[in-house]
Amino acid sequence: MLVPICGQHNRKKEWKPTVFAYSEDGISIQVPNVYAWVCPEDGEASFTPETADELIVTLREFVEAAKRAKARRSQLTEYIVAVG
Ligand SMILES: [Zn+2]
Repeated sequence: MLVPICGQHNRKKEWKPTVFAYSEDGISIQVPNVYAWVCPEDGEASFTPETADELIVTLREFVEAAKRAKARRSQLTEYIVAVG
């Protein structure tokens, strides 16, 4: 696999699990243990387009369900979802 380099810190990124964060319409979702290229300097993650596309498709359905739940219970706006 070709290792990308962080343009800001000029360091090789590391392929490791990180947290994918997504938010839409006041609902924020964090998905732990998603593999991405992570800068060892500041921990900034770059998700591959395949990973991001796949997660967003799944999370959109979740956001729809969360919106319906939110209509009933107003405080519940932050979720942590385990995928895979
Ligand atoms: Zn960096």
